[in-house]
Amino acid sequence: MQKSISFIKLLLAVTVFSFLFPVNIFAQTNYHNSLEKVRTLPLDSASHGIIVHFPEGGEERARELGPMLGEALEFFSDSLKVDLDFRLALLREEHWKEITNYPYAIPHVSSENSRAIAFLPLDQDGVVYDMMISFKDRISSDLSEEVTETGFSYEGFSNKMVDLIGFHEIGHPYANVYGIGQPARWFNEFVANYFLYAFLRTNYPKDAQIWDLSTKIILDDYEPNYRTLEDFEEHYVGVGADNYGWYQANFESKANDLYEERGFSFIRELKENFPEGEGKLPNEVILARLEKMERGFKEWATTFEEKSKDN
Ligand SMILES: [Zn+2]
Repeated sequence: MQKSISFIKLLLAVTVFSFLFPVNIFAQTNYHNSLEKVRTLPLDSASHGIIVHFPEGGEERARELGPMLGEALEFFSDSLKVDLDFRLALLREEHWKEITNYPYAIPHVSSENSRAIAFLPLDQDGVVYDMMISFKDRISSDLSEEVTETGFSYEGFSNKMVDLIGFHEIGHPYANVYGIGQPARWFNEFVANYFLYAFLRTNYPKDAQIWDLSTKIILDDYEPNYRTLEDFEEHYVGVGADNYGWYQANFESKANDLYEERGFSFIRELKENFPEGEGKLPNEVILARLEKMERGFKEWATTFEEKSKDN
C-alpha cells in the first residue's frame, strides 16, 4: 500500500513537472534507452573515428562521416577541456520508425551526462534533402551561381548540407557537458549551430561556406506558417520539417555572423551568462542577457514577430 501511494505521488510529481517544463517526445531522450533500442536493430557497429552503428551497405557512409565527427570531438575537447563520448547511428527509414518518434530523417541526439548518440538518415534523403531540392528551380541566379562555385551539383550540395547537420548534433551534448544552461529550445538550437560553425570555420572553411549558403537559400525563399519563438518552444519539430528548417536557418544565420565577430570566446561567455541549472527562462530575460553580451539580438528577434497581414 505504502509503495503504491508513493508511486502515485511520484507519478503526480512527474506529471506536474512535465507541465512546468514541457519536455515532449521530441526532447532529447535518455541516452541509455536510445542505445538499447539501437542495439535491438540488425546493425553493425565499428569504430571509425567514433563508434558508428549502421545497417548492411552502410559502411562507406560510416567511414565517411565517423572520422569527421571524431575530429570535431577532438576540436571541442581541446578547446573546452571537457570530453564527450559520442556515437552515431545511421538508420534506414524502417529502422528509424521503429525506434524514434522524430519524423524520418530529422537529425537529432539523445544524451545523458557526457554520453550522446546522434541519429542521422543513412541515405542522404528525407525531409531536409527534399526541402533543399524544393528550392532548386526557384533560387536567385546569384545564389545558384554560388552553389555552382562550391563545385557541387545542386543535389550534391544538398546532400552535403544534410551531412553537416551531424556537427550540429555534437553541439547539443557538448554545450551541456561544458555547462551552458538550456533556457529555451531556440537558445539551445542557436548554441548548437554556434558550435557547428566554430568547428567548420576552423577545420573545414569550404564546408562552412556550404552551410552558410544553405541558410541563405532557405531564408531567401521560404514563407513560414509558424514564426514566433513561442510557437517554436511549444511545437518544436511539430511545426513541420520545412518550417523547422526556416527556424534553424534563422538561428544559423545569427550564429554564423556572430562567430565571424566573436569567435570561440563567445562560447565561454555563453557559459558565464547562462550557467546550467537555471532551468527555463522567459524569452525577454534570455534576449536581454544576450543583448548585453552583443548588441543586435533584440533586433534579430523581431524576425520572429507576427507579421501584420497588410505588410
Ligand atoms: Zn538541434
